[in-house]
Amino acid sequence: MDDVTKMALDAPRIGVFVCDCGLNIAGTVDTAAVTEWARSLPDVACVVRNKYTCADPGQNEIRKAVVEYKLNRVVVASCSPRMHEPTFRGCVMDVGMNPYLMEMANLREHCSWVHAGEKDKATEKAKDLIRSAVARARHLTPQEELKVKVTKAALVIGGGVTGIQAALDLADSGHQVYLVEKEATIGGIMAGLDKTYPTMDCSI
Ligand code: SF4
Repeated sequence: MDDVTKMALDAPRIGVFVCDCGLNIAGTVDTAAVTEWARSLPDVACVVRNKYTCADPGQNEIRKAVVEYKLNRVVVASCSPRMHEPTFRGCVMDVGMNPYLMEMANLREHCSWVHAGEKDKATEKAKDLIRSAVARARHLTPQEELKVKVTKAALVIGGGVTGIQAALDLADSGHQVYLVEKEATIGGIMAGLDKTYPTMDCSI
């Protein structure tokens, strides 16, 4: 077992990084209060608040804290993972951490943006989101990425309109398609209609 994997399997030492996103989050969520509160969560070794965590200074805070506090899990409480999960995975990898030991809590799209004007409730929800992310982080294990060969073929089950369209789209993208239908003909319910909108033609 290498040192990085061993460190990941040791008792969790979690760093929580709370992002203001300027006023995108901090304008609605009391991030200062959330930061103080997060220090009491189990296995949390440090909590840092940043104005913009994805910016270079914010990422440097993460790298610095991982080394200084010997962190083996990181929770970034910021925006949607769809936006910055690759950023923060790369950030923790820079300091030798397995990227799958980084977890996110979405305080922006799932909280501040949808609860504008409800500061107290949004702050409580932000705490719940972070509590959940920390709980998940405590159970993370390092993952390795594998590359495997795949057969460029697809099986579509059901020859109704949806199945036919899926088969056509897959074929157009260069896949061999096998379309399976239990009835004698394809077309599903659509094939039984005598008129279809907007042309009112027979569907067959
Ligand atoms: S990490 Fe996300 S929430 Fe934080 S500043 Fe960047 S975009 Fe905004």
